[in-house]
Amino acid sequence: MAFISDEQISQIRQTANLVDLVSETVQLKKNGRNFMGLCPFHSEKSPSFSVSSEKQLYYCFGCGEGGDAFKYLMKRDGLSFPEAVRQLAKRCGIAIDEAKLPPEARARIRQREGLFRANQLAISFFKAQLEKAPHVSDYLEHRHLTAETLDAFEIGYAPDGWDHLSRFLYENRVPKALAVQSGLLMENDRGGIYDRFRNRVIFPIRDSSSQVAGFGGRVLDDSRPKYLNSPETLVYHKSRILYALPLARPQIRQTACVHVVEGYVDAIALYQAGVRNVVATLGTALTEDHVRLMKGYAKEAVLVFDSDSAGINAAERSIPVFEKQKMDVRILVLPEGQDPDAFVSANGGAAFLKLAERGKPVIHFLSDISIRRHGLSVEGRLHVLDDLKGPVQAIDDGLKRSLYIRDLAERLEVDESAIRSRYEVVRPEIKKSRGETGHDPLPVDWQRKDRMEKRILSMLVQFPDIHPEMRKRETLSLFQDPEMRQLGEAILSGLEAGGKTLVDVVSQHLDPASASAVASLALSEDEWVYDGCVKLLDQFSFMRGRRRRVTGSGHRV
Ligand SMILES: [Zn+2]
Repeated sequence: MAFISDEQISQIRQTANLVDLVSETVQLKKNGRNFMGLCPFHSEKSPSFSVSSEKQLYYCFGCGEGGDAFKYLMKRDGLSFPEAVRQLAKRCGIAIDEAKLPPEARARIRQREGLFRANQLAISFFKAQLEKAPHVSDYLEHRHLTAETLDAFEIGYAPDGWDHLSRFLYENRVPKALAVQSGLLMENDRGGIYDRFRNRVIFPIRDSSSQVAGFGGRVLDDSRPKYLNSPETLVYHKSRILYALPLARPQIRQTACVHVVEGYVDAIALYQAGVRNVVATLGTALTEDHVRLMKGYAKEAVLVFDSDSAGINAAERSIPVFEKQKMDVRILVLPEGQDPDAFVSANGGAAFLKLAERGKPVIHFLSDISIRRHGLSVEGRLHVLDDLKGPVQAIDDGLKRSLYIRDLAERLEVDESAIRSRYEVVRPEIKKSRGETGHDPLPVDWQRKDRMEKRILSMLVQFPDIHPEMRKRETLSLFQDPEMRQLGEAILSGLEAGGKTLVDVVSQHLDPASASAVASLALSEDEWVYDGCVKLLDQFSFMRGRRRRVTGSGHRV
């Protein structure tokens, strides 16, 4: 950590506040002295992710992930340690000396920030252009978009021509190469540079932390393509971004429900009609990252489709994704010939919500379609059973699967056990998701640890003042479990090296596995006083010492 002093690290951590950081994507509820929520790093339905505001540590009792604010950010956003430090420092307005950063980290940070800056400049350019283009304002008004909506979604206009934006970016000292990397400009075979978005209404796309990651552009007439989006860049990954999420979050949180539509125009129309818990995918099928983003706030997603078959395929493909993240999902297909935009323009937001209430669970939705297609003759019913086989098998939860099979049996008037045997498969064990990297160190298996040794370590992390007494008594040398002894030694030497608080020790002296272990010990709710600690240490020395004497393996006491 040569690039930044330990004092600065703890200053950043204190200012950043882990609870606020986690709350950006996870809904936390106060529980005793800690906060609890659904773990962002593994799939779960009941909260086992715990955050202590007092200790500035988090720990998941489900997957064993734990640590401090830096580790959280590294894990959540896939950053390196210097990048995480840099990002938190920036949020807190703490200046750090960049010259001391490792060169690769510095380059990546520069590039990311450069891209965000170019995008931010582009927004101001596109917005200013809209004001100069009354024909576009007329067009938007004709499409019933209010001034308030244009403002909320930062809608702009890219004028017709090849170099309007590029000249603006150069004037603002955005390097050519960076502007091309951002996708705002394009390069032809002869090295000529030109604007990607020309004569289009522009929709800025913000990521989950509300930074402008990319843009979407829609034509004003019938030219093709109708929609054009930024290409994938270092900061724009369409599989990880839900359009309008930062705007929709408060209402998603309030209703615990999120509507998912297929394009930004539909999302904007619903938002304007008062259905503010709405997000859009950006020309891609729903991914696990998408579901994870929603799951932080919503219990249930309602996928909204036009009444064409593309929607049916998309619904079918989304089942395993939601299953894996253990999030409830329903499907709403709009009446023939309607899309969300047209529907709310004609009927209003309240009518939409009423319709959405009748959205169907995926299996009902699919069986309806299949029954409509094949009918309920003997042959038809067999076809329906075949159609539903894959989707039913994709349901991870055994009880839920069983309930759907019963339901299907009733609808088709077929014997339940017959369906069961027809659908029987050996289900491959679904690998437990362990976050992005997939090669995390395994968490300590506390169940199998010695109760006393565990109690002593948890005392040490919860009452660090006791560490000189522990050293004096050589308590760790009496530990029988080498893993526990090693962990204890790491904490103890961290404290002795001048770690003022536990969280300093965690971030400055421990490897990720030990950091998780310490977070878990720290978040249990014991109360310690000095005398009680000393008593526990003496008791432990006495017990272990006696055992040693009995077995003749030691000379202590
Ligand atoms: Zn977890």
